[in-house]
Amino acid sequence: MADTDTDVIVVGAGPTGLTLAAELRLGGARVTVVERLAEPTGQSRGLGFTARAMEAFDQRGLLPRFGMPEISPVGHFGGVRFDYTVLPGAHFGARGIPQSRTEAVLEGWATELGAVVHRGWEFTGLEAGDAAVEITVRTPEGPGRLRASYLVGADGGHSPVREAAGIAFPGTPAARVMYLADVVGRGLRPRPLGERLEHGMVMAAPLTDGVDRIIVCPDGAPPREDAAPVTFAEVADAWRRLTGEDIADAGTEWVSSFTDATRQAATYRAGRVLLAGD
Ligand SMILES: Cc1cc2nc3c(=O)[nH]c(=O)nc-3n(C[C@H](O)[C@H](O)[C@H](O)COP(=O)(O)OP(=O)(O)OC[C@H]3O[C@@H](n4cnc5c(N)ncnc54)[C@H](O)[C@@H]3O)c2cc1C
Repeated sequence: MADTDTDVIVVGAGPTGLTLAAELRLGGARVTVVERLAEPTGQSRGLGFTARAMEAFDQRGLLPRFGMPEISPVGHFGGVRFDYTVLPGAHFGARGIPQSRTEAVLEGWATELGAVVHRGWEFTGLEAGDAAVEITVRTPEGPGRLRASYLVGADGGHSPVREAAGIAFPGTPAARVMYLADVVGRGLRPRPLGERLEHGMVMAAPLTDGVDRIIVCPDGAPPREDAAPVTFAEVADAWRRLTGEDIADAGTEWVSSFTDATRQAATYRAGRVLLAGD
């Protein structure tokens, strides 16, 4: 092996990077994770996981770390409902587990196994050779370099590792916008698997006491051209147009938007650089 700081560098401490780090440790590899966020965000896109994730966590003895999750024989992906009961055997998804909690469990597991996680370290570039790959990072102490046998970009849909490795990302651009907000103190009627209305689809699910996650998918709403962060006024306006309910004066813990842009990396491996996850 070439002279390296570690066997594998994983960029990104999301669910994929942390799971990979732990699994690599179980296989005996030395792993260093670099994550640009100094602290976990506390924000949660996911609110549960599928039956397959339940099985994988169970195989690794991780389920007790989630307490007693609410289990469900049905689930959805992007509002399309699915029913595990049509499958042979017992399959259940977990609900009511914010992604921040899943990430905390996975980070605890990975670090217990000996993975090194550097938070506040941002991947900025790579040089891949035949025997090793070297990356540059921006850290609170200044720029740095790390060398490993392999590099894995588990750095999300906008993957800087994928871009630096020159891996193409073909697909279709966004045609519509959808909104998300965690709304405080409104006690909204639960619509956990989505409800189709005349002008689009809405979802609502209780998150914690007094906080509801809403997702609003207005039919035909074009992607936002404004690069500024989405405001709750925009979300509340879309909610009112679809449901007739006025939530404009509610408090919020998080407001975001996403689109239907659909892309896939042309390859998941280019020499010593690999991609995983979103
Ligand atoms: C509205 C919404 C709801 C969802 N609901 C669910 C659900 O209920 N259940 C479910 O299973 N999934 C859900 N998902 C999908 C889930 O959130 C993603 O699939 C998951 O987060 C992907 O994990 P990842 O580790 O691949 O990437 P990410 O979670 O995106 O993590 C990537 C990490 O890389 C870091 N990073 C990026 N660039 C750099 C850099 N240059 N240097 C260092 N670090 C970097 C980021 O800070 C981030 O921490 C949902 C998604 C959305 C948008």
